[in-house]
Amino acid sequence: MAKPNLVIIGAGGVGDVAANKAVQFRKDFGDIYWASRTLDKLSSKADEVHRRWAKGHENTLIEPRRVDARDIADTVRLLQDTQADIVVNVASPYCNPAIMDACLETGTHYIDTALAEEEHVENIPAPWYSYFEWPRRPKFAGRKLNALLGMGFDPGVVNIFCAHAAKHLFDSISSIDIIDVNAGSHGRYFATNFDADTNLREIKEDVITWDNGQWRSFPHHREWMDVALPEVGAHRVYSMGHDELQSLAVNFPDTPRITFWMGFGEHYLKVFEVLDNLGLTSSIPIEVDGCRVAPNRVVKALLPDPASLAKDYTGKVCIGVDVRGRKDGEEKRHFIWSNCDHAENYAEVGAQAISYTTGVPAITAARLLAEGAWNPQTMVNVEELDPDPFLAMMPDVGIGWHVEELPLDGTWPYPS
Ligand code: NDP
Repeated sequence: MAKPNLVIIGAGGVGDVAANKAVQFRKDFGDIYWASRTLDKLSSKADEVHRRWAKGHENTLIEPRRVDARDIADTVRLLQDTQADIVVNVASPYCNPAIMDACLETGTHYIDTALAEEEHVENIPAPWYSYFEWPRRPKFAGRKLNALLGMGFDPGVVNIFCAHAAKHLFDSISSIDIIDVNAGSHGRYFATNFDADTNLREIKEDVITWDNGQWRSFPHHREWMDVALPEVGAHRVYSMGHDELQSLAVNFPDTPRITFWMGFGEHYLKVFEVLDNLGLTSSIPIEVDGCRVAPNRVVKALLPDPASLAKDYTGKVCIGVDVRGRKDGEEKRHFIWSNCDHAENYAEVGAQAISYTTGVPAITAARLLAEGAWNPQTMVNVEELDPDPFLAMMPDVGIGWHVEELPLDGTWPYPS
């Protein structure tokens, strides 16, 4: 089979990593294109990627293209002009429905890293995949097209860690705690690590968690626990609603408790609570001098571009799953995790670790589709796939992973 043409849509921090990693593994792909809304910005980024990997090549390694990915017809034109076989969608989540529809129209395989969202809606009931993604599943299946949902780190690799636990470590799973700690420092007063309006919304919304076999909801930052994780030490983490719970609760029907926890420092929480109390995290538009504007868009416009944080970022990230259950009649607890280092990721591809941990898994999945190791020929959440080929390949693309059996009393054996 000819090598597939790859189109990456989105040129933020995650797009930077996806473009670099696609070019690094360009032997697996045919032509590689990089599309986004603002062509000037994209073209200079594409030149930078070319310079990083060219090593004497005259040929263009990655070609920039302008697209409005919220417009189905424009996206169809892009996919037809480039004869796309695989799309990696790392644009804003508002683009997802149009990109999925353009893939269906042109017969293109689809990978994304985040749930589709509506701009001015908050606190939608679970399961979130039932609004935009799962209704399109029969269409992807009907065309035998692959659509891999949520293929970043969380969602993404953590879902695959759960599949690994179910396949290799447990006979039955009683609880899964997904834990994300960014112990890095970017030196700015306040910033989000990825797209600000999506990030602020996921933090401000009510928490939806899977508890005792049902959805439970409560205000943000209400529940927390203290953990000590490999390489990042002791942190307080707070319960949050997050994409991966929405599919894991469906795909792990015998697991009564699945929760997501994220670390926040005191300074971040203080600033966030001020913004939130003033109504500035809201995505519901208000009228200002005759203009309708969503407050979180104003905050986004004032905050640093997440990609710009990369050059000053130091410290490490740890993201993993703490899984409990039974194996061969015995109670067991395993932690499965990865670490990334902001400065190392910047030295390698010019991006910070949150972008790196999202772009590397997306390109690992694109390589697996290209070589046929993953080929479900329908839409899936990634925990539905065989975790083995992915976890074998991810270290080669840039992120290692580890598993360790932990004490059943809930303590953490890592230095604080
Ligand atoms: P950014 O906001 O930095 O970048 C988004 C990119 O999408 C920009 O290049 C922007 O273009 C482009 N874009 C926005 N609208 C359009 C449009 N209509 N047409 C074409 N391009 C458009 O986001 P990040 O790079 O930080 O994040 C990218 C995605 O990754 C997001 O969906 C985010 O939620 C997801 N993510 C997932 C994680 C995971 O672990 N699963 C973790 C972190 C992020 P322009 O340059 O013109 O602004």
